[in-house]
Amino acid sequence: MLRAFTKCLLTNGVAGRRMMSQGSLAGKVAIVTASTDGIGLATAQSLGKRGAHVVVSSRRQANVDKAVSLLRSENIQVTGTCCNVGNSEDREKLISTTLEQCGGIDFLVSNAAVNPFFGNILDSTEEVWNKILHVNVTAAFLLTKQVVPHMEKRGGGSVVLVSSVAGYQPMQGLGPYSVSKTALLGLTRALAPDLAQSNIRINCVAPGIIKTRFSTALWQSEDLRNELLKQMSIKRLGKPEDIGEVIAFLCSDEASFITGETITVTGGMNSRL
Ligand code: NAP
Repeated sequence: MLRAFTKCLLTNGVAGRRMMSQGSLAGKVAIVTASTDGIGLATAQSLGKRGAHVVVSSRRQANVDKAVSLLRSENIQVTGTCCNVGNSEDREKLISTTLEQCGGIDFLVSNAAVNPFFGNILDSTEEVWNKILHVNVTAAFLLTKQVVPHMEKRGGGSVVLVSSVAGYQPMQGLGPYSVSKTALLGLTRALAPDLAQSNIRINCVAPGIIKTRFSTALWQSEDLRNELLKQMSIKRLGKPEDIGEVIAFLCSDEASFITGETITVTGGMNSRL
């Protein structure tokens, strides 16, 4: 049976290539922030099923433990640690744990974001503004800076930032958050030429409305959900794996000539600056 299967792979180029592409990230180490739920967890699954060792993290140990158990049950190589990306000691620990347990870093997926404010942008306080920009933009930049020397030691790497359709078209009530997501589009473009010198690609993904806890306020109310669906060509909410698969593609060698770009994954929502 096994011999027949191996023979089939050797003689059937398409099946063989498909099997190889499922393992195309074997030996790679991927840090995915905010990866115990939603898009981050789906990204860890997409990278892990292609053979990468994934390092998952978020603020709460219980969430980390749960995600690690789930990924292990799916035969994914995984390390888990707590990391609030807004905290510099946590970021240091995320990097040092990865190096100690996995021996290097090939990919960074900067996925963490917060939005503690809903309302008129002019009502946002300095404190709220600073928190959103710090976690959503500054921490993404600082983490990227921190992984660069380690990616250089591996001969290169790939960084993916997670923005939002709100980065293109600010969402009503989500002004500061939308601004932070626009900043990530700029950060991607600004970093690309410098990182290319170290054979590191950096790209960005801008999800539309994806059904996760983070976006509950957008899809729970039927009226608002229907309003948003009207703006999409594909009439459904996105799934976390819709984004995870695109991120895994951007990390892979299949995307080796892509850098400085943002891919919108929105089911066709209008997303032009
Ligand atoms: P989610 O399902 O609610 O998951 C959020 C994850 O982030 C959890 O694992 C949470 O775990 C962790 N987290 C929260 N604050 C953190 C912090 N400061 N440091 C580290 N981890 C943190 O959210 P999601 O929808 O997947 O969102 C992920 C990313 O996609 C965000 O950047 C968001 O802006 C972007 N996005 C989402 C949508 C959407 O419609 N869902 C659309 C566009 C863009 P703990 O509570 O344990 O920390």
